[in-house]
Order: sequence, then C-alpha cells, then structure tokens
Amino acid sequence: MKTSLGKMTRNEAGAKEFLLKAGILHGFQPCMLCGSTRVIPAGRGRTRCSDCGFTWGLRRGSIIENTRLTYLQFIRIARLFADEIPPNEAAERLHIGLSSVDHLYHRIRLSFTDGTSGSGTPKEPARSAGPIFPKSRPGPVIFGIHYSPETIRIEPLPPATNDLIIDLDIPWSLRGNILFIDTCEKTYHGLIAYYPDRENQEVVLVQPKNRTHWPPLTVFWKYAQTSWSRHRYLKRDAVPAYVQELVFRYNHRHKDMFHAILEQLSGYEQPA
Ligand SMILES: [Zn+2]
Repeated sequence: MKTSLGKMTRNEAGAKEFLLKAGILHGFQPCMLCGSTRVIPAGRGRTRCSDCGFTWGLRRGSIIENTRLTYLQFIRIARLFADEIPPNEAAERLHIGLSSVDHLYHRIRLSFTDGTSGSGTPKEPARSAGPIFPKSRPGPVIFGIHYSPETIRIEPLPPATNDLIIDLDIPWSLRGNILFIDTCEKTYHGLIAYYPDRENQEVVLVQPKNRTHWPPLTVFWKYAQTSWSRHRYLKRDAVPAYVQELVFRYNHRHKDMFHAILEQLSGYEQPA
C-alpha cells in the first residue's frame, strides 16, 4: 500500500481511487433514505436509488463530507496529521486555510473516541459521555486509564470522581489545570497539566508521580511525554479529543501511523 501511494496521489483521479480502495470513500452503499440496495451510478460520481430516486455524492458519510477539500488535499493533511505536524505549519506547507486544517484535524481526533483504540478492545459508548466540564468554565479533566499488556484505553471519569483530586498528593495551584490524571485502580500514578505562562501561552506539564514511573505504565508515560511536547499548540477544549489521539498513537506505535489512521477512518461515519 505504501509503495502505491506515490503513484496514486499524483492527481485527483488517483487520489479518489486510493481513497475508495482504502475505504475512506464508500463507493456503492445502500440508499441512505430508504435502505434499498438497488442503487445505480448517476454520473459525476453520484449514486441514485432506483426505488426512491434519492441521489447522493461520493463524500456522503465520509470524513470529508461537507468539506471543500479535494481528495488530494485530504490525503496530504492526513499525512501531516500522522506526522504530528501542527495545523498552522500544515496549512502553510499545503497552502490551505488554517480553519480547514483545524477542522479536519478535529474530525480525525473525534474518530478516535468512536471506535476501538486497540486490538481486541471492546467498543465503548464513548460518544455519549460528552465533555465532563462546561466549555465556558474549564475545570479539571480526569481520565481513568486501563491497561492491558500491549494497549491502553482511556475514558473520562464521571464527575463524581472529582473527589479523587482532593486526595491527590499534588500542589493546589495545579489542581485546576489538570488535564489528565492517570488513575488506575483508583490510584494516582501521574498527571498532565497546563500552566498558563506570562505570555498566555500554555505549557504542558507531564509528570509521573514522584518523578518515577509505575512499571506497567512506564512506556506509556514516556510516549505521552514526547507526544505532548509536539502538541503544545492545542487549545484547551481540544484536549479531551487529543487524549484519545494520544491513546490511539500509543496503541499503534509499532505501525505506520498514516495507514493506521486511514484504517481507522475507513470505519468512520459522519454523524448526521
Ligand atoms: Zn432509496
């Protein structure tokens, strides 16, 4: 797949073919309106339902539905996302508006909260959980971490577990800025926090408890440290989605990230 990417992505037609093969674009699928499988090509890449007459475009339901990105642009942005290139730098390199890049980055992140974030992990109803703090008044974001030998799963803890913070052995000044606490078995093993600095830039602090690592999570914490250092541009309200990205990256750290992401996006369904 990797070798064919260069050839496939020289022009828009090749890019389209590549995305169809990768399952990002869904090609023929049952009618969205009536569910009929009697669907026929309707020209210009559109599909028509023979039963109810409804037509729809190739992008429908895909990660690029309702975006103006070309197929090539999508592939290039996804590639830079995989390489952890900040959105402003990606926008500059590709001559694409920053808001388009931001928007796609965010959509890709949301796809991580949806599906399984590791082999053999059961599907979690993560979407229904929603943000655990109001956007206008950000509070600490607490995640529980579950680990099995090779994969990690992180879930927001219910607000009731805020009490957990009170028992933590961490400075008070930090408590409001906590983005992530690693609580496994209700024990605190480390945290990731924000410090707004004098220029109002936010600095991310990754701190394992007592500066030592709890052995089962050592590799994860080291990974998190490196990855967060590349994501200091993140806005605070993007952090819960980023935490899921972090987990996805960790669980796929031995794979080619671009292809792991494409695979994840092939199962993506744009919410109505
Ligand atoms: Zn129909």
